Amino acid sequence: MSANQETTRVTVAYGDGIGPEIMKATLSILEAAGARLEYDVITIGEQMYTSGHTSGISPEAWNVLRRNPVFLKAPITTPQGGGYKSLNVTIRKTMGLFANVRPTRAYTPFVHSNFPEMDVVVVRENEEDLYAGIEHQQTPEVVQCLKLISRPGSEKIIRYAFEYAKANGRKKVTCMSKDNIMKHTDGLFHKIFNETSKEYPEIEAEHYIVDIGSARIADNPERFDVIVTLNLYGDIISDITAEIAGSVGLGGSSNIGETLAMFEAIHGSAPDIAGKGIANPSGLINGACMMLTHVGQADVAETIQNALLKTLEDGIHTGDLASDEYTKQRVNTREFAEAIIERFGQKPERLNAVSLNRDAKPIQVKASPTPLVKKELVGSDVFIDWVGENRNPDVLGDNLSEIAQRSQMKLKMITNRGVKVYPNGMPETFCTDHWRCRFIHADGSSVVSYEQLTSLLNDLIVADFNFIKTENLYLMDGERAYSLAQGE
Ligand code: NAD
Repeated sequence: MSANQETTRVTVAYGDGIGPEIMKATLSILEAAGARLEYDVITIGEQMYTSGHTSGISPEAWNVLRRNPVFLKAPITTPQGGGYKSLNVTIRKTMGLFANVRPTRAYTPFVHSNFPEMDVVVVRENEEDLYAGIEHQQTPEVVQCLKLISRPGSEKIIRYAFEYAKANGRKKVTCMSKDNIMKHTDGLFHKIFNETSKEYPEIEAEHYIVDIGSARIADNPERFDVIVTLNLYGDIISDITAEIAGSVGLGGSSNIGETLAMFEAIHGSAPDIAGKGIANPSGLINGACMMLTHVGQADVAETIQNALLKTLEDGIHTGDLASDEYTKQRVNTREFAEAIIERFGQKPERLNAVSLNRDAKPIQVKASPTPLVKKELVGSDVFIDWVGENRNPDVLGDNLSEIAQRSQMKLKMITNRGVKVYPNGMPETFCTDHWRCRFIHADGSSVVSYEQLTSLLNDLIVADFNFIKTENLYLMDGERAYSLAQGE
């Protein structure tokens, strides 16, 4: 028996393409397994897009989503072009679904993979990083995308990964970041991982730089257990793990927030086979099992997942899995669901049986309050669009040095794409039209006032320098809170 005997209300969307077929099959399995669920059906996707809702969802559907704690979503078709937004991204961001959890395991020999023991869960941060989508073209030559990493955002996802590991009998959490290069953004993520991991001494914690870490996943995924990482790396890594496990079509995924969690299959709406009744419902079934565990019905999830494994083992396969060697009966979507239901109570013999923590509660995590920090302004990086005098950094530097004196500031250095080019740059360095000019107090160490900064910017305007933006330089509790330039 599971901890939770209450009935949970679920928002359900049948989606597009094969969505309705695999959702019907999935709901029939949930019902037969005695899942304590009640459903509110919403319409999203193609039908809404074409009726004028560019986000693919109506205001009424939002209200239902907000009311219920979980959402089981079949894949939807995103129309090409026409300014339509991805509904997944819209729901994820609007509802604060910060954790994308993607388990992938091998089903060899029934589904081919080179890594039969592979069983990895990628816990991907879902809201921050380069996916904040803040991009600007700043000069004719340079475009930027802001990478935003927050302390609470990082703590929430890392804590979620450890809590997930604890609840699911996992032994190790691996953090992947690139903090050898991005010392402040990825550095914060890694630092919070180190701090948080100390609260979970029973779980092994390790860190990989994401490039060698990804290479290890591709070469030896069986050594990984739970992987927690930032948004972009997680997007890439979770596709690699799904692909090398051979189970893209079988994988479920969850998007977890504080008040709502969304569960789905990894795959899309497969319009090429829609309406034929032949789609494999396993991805959505696995997503639904993640939902059951989330709402405290791990016992039901375990029954379904073991029956699904037994079905695969017995050679009862949908067309996408059919092989001469292992398929005994080629079935359609409905027959596959019926075969699972017939196997409730059975466990696989060759594949590893699923064993879930029956007492698992919905994982709720909160970030700690942000500590008070003493913040001192010690300078500013002023970004300038400039090509004058053959882009000679010395000409720019000498000019700016003179202007800086008027506001008791001094030009410390100039970089171009992060490389120091003034003073004493190397002639070989390629320079674009985008210059970062670092100004500090004239005496080299004091705190800078906002009056000094605004006066400097005024003097730059008067001297006809086209500044794009400024980034203030702070000490936080006396520590430098900005990066040095290469060569600084
Ligand atoms: P897809 O995953 O829908 O299909 C890729 C291939 O896999 C197709 O050949 C398809 O027939 C097959 N396939 C997928 N799921 C299957 C299943 N359950 N059983 C058997 N075969 C299956 O990817 P796509 O073709 O790139 O995308 C189609 C549409 O789905 C697009 O509009 C895309 O935007 C959307 N999509 C939605 C989601 C989502 O809602 N979460 C995710 C990905 C793609």
